[in-house]
Amino acid sequence: MQNFQDFLQTWPAQRRSAGIAVATTDRILAVLEKDSLTPQDFLLLLSPLAQDCLESMARRAHDLTLRYFGRAVNIFTPFYISDVCTNQCRYCGFNARNTQPRRHLNAAEILAEAGAIAAQGFQHVLLLTGDARHLSSPEYIVSAVRDIKPLFASVGVEVYAMNEEEYRLLIDAGVDSMTMFQETYTPERYAWLHPAGPKRDYAWRLAAPERAARAGMRSLGIGALLGLEPFEQDAFATGLHAWWLQRHCPGVELSVSIPRICPHEGSFVVEHTVDDRTLAQYVMALRCFLPRAGITCSSRESAFMRDHLLALGVTRVSAGVSTAVGGRATEDLHNPGQFEISDSRSLFQMTAALAARGYQAVIKDWETPIL
Ligand code: SF4
Repeated sequence: MQNFQDFLQTWPAQRRSAGIAVATTDRILAVLEKDSLTPQDFLLLLSPLAQDCLESMARRAHDLTLRYFGRAVNIFTPFYISDVCTNQCRYCGFNARNTQPRRHLNAAEILAEAGAIAAQGFQHVLLLTGDARHLSSPEYIVSAVRDIKPLFASVGVEVYAMNEEEYRLLIDAGVDSMTMFQETYTPERYAWLHPAGPKRDYAWRLAAPERAARAGMRSLGIGALLGLEPFEQDAFATGLHAWWLQRHCPGVELSVSIPRICPHEGSFVVEHTVDDRTLAQYVMALRCFLPRAGITCSSRESAFMRDHLLALGVTRVSAGVSTAVGGRATEDLHNPGQFEISDSRSLFQMTAALAARGYQAVIKDWETPIL
């Protein structure tokens, strides 16, 4: 089987630029009439010219979202158990070079945090660690999952890239989804952004969702961190990745996250800011290209932005978020968290806000049996 990295190379920058250069308003409107879109069609919807067609795109994206997802919106919350990290990602507050205090929860602390999250009513959690295998080993994560699984219907992970056997261990412990952000799909930029640490290995990270799928993972989440590269480059590569995974991993549920870079501890300068209008264009283009894929919008975005993106394709949101390790059970004023969040609504507030817009909050749509 051809892997995604090989496939991505069939779409070099030159081919993408040529694909965008042929955009016309008529071509873009014709794409919106099609039942099934090609990668070239997706590129047209991401082009600057498509900003003149946003109303038509919005109508098409809204119709497709209603057809495939109705008015149901899944809610989850992130659960940080360690922020010790050996990587030096230039854009991240957990960067190993930052001297902030770190926390690594032990089993009792993990259970206390899980209890605090469960008491808020959450059923779907996303477990996160930094990349530090010597502390947050696969065994540590497996043990954490086994301990918290009785409290939640669904436990996902967003951790470092693992091998197939390690993903199998996670699945056996009760994990049903994995999220892996490639950050940027441009290898040269990726190398600059990740000067040291195991995450430097672009190819190993890129193939992680494929390995997880082969191990039997039920649900995969991918995404780029918008703002690291020119918008069209990473937006296109992300959509292409999701499209490729849907074809090569049949039966796997697929979702795309749309994070924009946030302020953090450090001095990273965002060179390719993605404005609100362009983010909305991205959501609409994704929905038209990948009608059945989930689209996740985190609390990096404001309440206003998240509420308005629902009609355009977003199907999954976080709530009650703390990006600090152990941030619910204990208040650690010295730990600023991985990044600043913009939408601090609780589960209750989010559910009410969704209801006010005619949406139903789905707290639980899956239950992994405890073996
Ligand atoms: S982005 Fe992830 S891997 Fe990189 S420094 Fe932050 S926590 Fe570590």
